[in-house]
Amino acid sequence: LAVPGCGKKETVKVGIEQNFRPFTYMENGEKKGFEVELWQAVAKKADIPYELVPMEHGELIKSVKSGGVDLAIAGMTVSNARKNNFDYSSPYFQTGLVVLTSTDNGVIKGKDDLTQKVVATKNGSTAFNYAGEIQGAKIRSYSNIADVYTELKNNTVDAAIFDERNAHDFLKDKAQGQVKMVGEAFNKERYAVVAKKRNKYIGKVNKGLEAVSKDGTYEAMYTKWFGS
Ligand code: GLN
Repeated sequence: LAVPGCGKKETVKVGIEQNFRPFTYMENGEKKGFEVELWQAVAKKADIPYELVPMEHGELIKSVKSGGVDLAIAGMTVSNARKNNFDYSSPYFQTGLVVLTSTDNGVIKGKDDLTQKVVATKNGSTAFNYAGEIQGAKIRSYSNIADVYTELKNNTVDAAIFDERNAHDFLKDKAQGQVKMVGEAFNKERYAVVAKKRNKYIGKVNKGLEAVSKDGTYEAMYTKWFGS
């Protein structure tokens, strides 16, 4: 006899981001992106019942801390600063930070030209931490990366620093030739699924990640979203 609800596993709440293209974003009310698809595949392999909860990056970090969500998959960089408060899965993406500036800016050629400059970035991000270390730089930070890009396009800041792939996405689709990327990517970053310390999920997530990497799912998704 089947007893309804009996043996039913708890639904894991997984935080994603509303605007972190091409990893996790909302478009016409739909959840999209490389990380959304990666998560779906991982959860299937590891048999994790889940619900995706979209929110802003700052909210996401707080929510993982307070237990509002159990996990987050949203371009979360493994950083020493966060390691005291969070646990990470195995990293699944390698990237870095980049500098963006106006197309007609001939002075800023990379991260070493930002001293005393007005630099925009996203609140609470690893780029924000990096920017805070630049000698004499004035930092303007926003919780939505769209506002950073608007500042750049309007030429109301000298430069912006943010995650490389997200910046690429903006340059490709919305910069309209007004913004360019300068210098090499720096500050090697690795993205991982994040959870509260002493959680019961990361082990399963790692098993799922291993499985999608072994059977070629990961590679196919990577190629779909980022090219080979
Ligand atoms: N990778 C950056 C960080 O972890 C930005 C992530 C994001 O904006 N979603 O802080």
